[in-house]
Amino acid sequence: MEKSSISIQLTSSKKPKPQSDELAFGRVFTDHMFVMDYSVEENWHSPRIVPYQAIAMEPAAMVYHYGQTVFEGLKAYLTKEGKVLLFRPEKNMERLNKSNDRLCIPRVDEEFVLEALKQLITVDKEWIPEKEGTSLYIRPFIISTESYLGVAPSKTYKLIIILSPVGSYYKEGIAPVKIAVESEFVRAVAGGTGTAKTAGNYASSLKAQEVAEASGFSQVLWLDGLEKKYIEEVGSMNIFFKINGEIITPALNGSILEGVTRNSVLQLLKHWGLPVTERKISVEEIAEAHKEGKLEEAFGTGTAAVISPVGELIWKNESLVINNGETGPISKKLYSTITSIQRGDQSDEFGWTTEVSTVEKEKVN
Ligand SMILES: *Cc1c(COP(=O)(O)O)cnc(C)c1O
Repeated sequence: MEKSSISIQLTSSKKPKPQSDELAFGRVFTDHMFVMDYSVEENWHSPRIVPYQAIAMEPAAMVYHYGQTVFEGLKAYLTKEGKVLLFRPEKNMERLNKSNDRLCIPRVDEEFVLEALKQLITVDKEWIPEKEGTSLYIRPFIISTESYLGVAPSKTYKLIIILSPVGSYYKEGIAPVKIAVESEFVRAVAGGTGTAKTAGNYASSLKAQEVAEASGFSQVLWLDGLEKKYIEEVGSMNIFFKINGEIITPALNGSILEGVTRNSVLQLLKHWGLPVTERKISVEEIAEAHKEGKLEEAFGTGTAAVISPVGELIWKNESLVINNGETGPISKKLYSTITSIQRGDQSDEFGWTTEVSTVEKEKVN
């Protein structure tokens, strides 16, 4: 598909833009969206940028019943000079196709979808908030649209990209959270869909999240689905521990979602010459390390928070306080390094950022 084949229909009524300091997460959407359709006969076709609007589908549309759908999440950042940067977007496109494969959804042309995403951001670039910590959240997703109640892969799909200006994840600076080790519910099992960004994984995580929140925890630490022994993820983030100087993250095992942030953190730590290992790690080992005073740091990684320090873990009614409940030095350094690269405040020696377009500063609200 040619880049020029994306048609653009601009809105006739632009919406008011929220103030930077009033922004929450995922509640406000920009003026436009990108849509593309799939049919067996025409493959992916009719790419278009249109005003943000509701989509009409028959109640029999397959996505409503069996959840054959995938999504991605990434952000665009505005630099001090008014440049718009994306952080490793090709990784998200690659993962979108990986999720597609798992869900029997036809693959997309990664370069083309990335180009479409850039064009959409350019159309709505005045929506990118300027204040430090804010960004434009980008949500590409694919839904199965065929009207059919049989359990089978749909014959038609829509790929849609919507944009949402989001506020700073940390209103008062990076801060540690309290996490409950989840010993009843599991997020995913090897052979299941845990490695794909697909709706069902998140629907099935809600119960544990609800119970944890009711007891005053912000998220759960997920254990493996077979033995409920080994650590997998924290909430919808990947997890890292620092034990006696070594930084450890669970190895990809067929049920862990491979985060772009996780990959970036691994690269940075190696670049800094720190000992870092991807391996199986049990919750017992964590408790043991804590008892011996060797559990130095723990943090989650993901696009939304970048780094989310864990200040306390609750396991079997025991509280494991980590680094006095404060953000550790590795967590701080990773957070400031990654966020400065994303905002163009630090040289991008890994070539992680991609420039989309330039915004004239006076047009930015
Ligand atoms: C999206 C996601 C992550 C983090 O991925 P990033 O690419 O770093 O944002 C981790 N775990 C789960 C379950 C996720 O859905």
